Amino acid sequence: MSSDAEQIAQEAAPIGHGRLQWRILMGFVLGLAAGLLAYTLSPGAPWIDTVVTYITGPVGQVFLRLLFMLVIPLLFSALVVGIAEMGEIRALRAIGLRTLLYTVIVSSIAVAISLACVNLLRPGDGVDPAAARDLLAQGGEGAASIVAASAESDAGVNQLVAIVPSNVISAMAENDILAVMFFALFFGIGLLLVQTPRTGQLKDAIEGVFEVAMRLIGLVIQLAPIAIFCFMFNLSAQFGWDLLAKLAAYVGVVVLALGLQMFGVFPALLALVARKSPLAFFRETREASVMAFSTASSNATLPTALRIADSELHLPPNIARFVLTIGATANQNGTAMFEGVTVLFLAQFFGVELTLLDQLFVMLVCILAGIGTAGVPGGSLPVVALILAGVGVPPQGIGLILGVDRFLDMCRTTLNVVGDLVAAQVISATSREVVAAPPTG
Ligand code: ASP
Repeated sequence: MSSDAEQIAQEAAPIGHGRLQWRILMGFVLGLAAGLLAYTLSPGAPWIDTVVTYITGPVGQVFLRLLFMLVIPLLFSALVVGIAEMGEIRALRAIGLRTLLYTVIVSSIAVAISLACVNLLRPGDGVDPAAARDLLAQGGEGAASIVAASAESDAGVNQLVAIVPSNVISAMAENDILAVMFFALFFGIGLLLVQTPRTGQLKDAIEGVFEVAMRLIGLVIQLAPIAIFCFMFNLSAQFGWDLLAKLAAYVGVVVLALGLQMFGVFPALLALVARKSPLAFFRETREASVMAFSTASSNATLPTALRIADSELHLPPNIARFVLTIGATANQNGTAMFEGVTVLFLAQFFGVELTLLDQLFVMLVCILAGIGTAGVPGGSLPVVALILAGVGVPPQGIGLILGVDRFLDMCRTTLNVVGDLVAAQVISATSREVVAAPPTG
């Protein structure tokens, strides 16, 4: 998928690049300023309610609905294609399995770290509960019905059973992400098992759906500056200055969690499993980190990562090529961590109590979302919107994080890319027999 991925990355580049990025930032700053002004000059004035109810509220809702509309086709196609590709290179099936196992284990560690950070530090706590309740109510039927639905949902073992959908259409209709993801995973495996010309065409068609969905998300994101103005106005007119402090704490927790994975887990994996000096590794992969940080796209960084694996890390080319290409879409530790922190932060912010089981659900979705998120700037935003809705947190909260997303995107993408290189290093070190083995007939 590398050439396709690069093409998609180029097409989707406007999501995070150039002028749009500035307009998003402007929407954020202006909305925040207007809201704070309203909050300071006439707190609780009826005209603010009118503006929120009839103008800024509905505009934000339309933006969110457009995102939601695209999320199921996007997630389904990305996951099916991601899985189908893992087994595409027959000779490398053993490596494919190892990559899958590695991805699941290391992503689980990453998400666990991020959930621990956000639970311990609780950056979203302390918002005026009355104001939060107001905002919840204002989310209109959308948020309210989602909250109701999640309150009704089964508890305990039934929740686990419900991951397997009995009817995939109704799972999609009910935005039951985990069930839809399960189906996509199963379908992807099916596509791996039956490799005929017709299933090849089907896979191509599903990739086509992915490309169209990505393009449309790119179009919807063009509306982001206006929508973000509205979100920020609504939030800051209600929460006032508190909002800024919370936002800073949130950014701090995301960066801390990413840092723990980058400078704790990765060096441990390198030193203990791959027997490679972490310092040397970081020095040799510097160029890929800089590239990832500046483009905020794993796909766009893929060529650089491939070159570095070859010329600096001296990894076996067949393993490195396979692991890095798959990893650019499917092994996204930074993205999974970001999604975990964001969902829990917004839950704290809006006073939505998440039980241990809810958090387990978030964790599972984040691990899968790390596999199913496109490696392009802003790729995780639609997924975050969907998880929020899934756990009963008002999805308009996404407006809060969009304003600071570019910076966090740069950070998490760096972790994604370095994580792929760590994966290539570890899998190469543990697969010597595969590399050395003569081809079997
Ligand atoms: N920008 C990220 C990447 O390309 C994806 C995301 O988390 O938005 O890896």
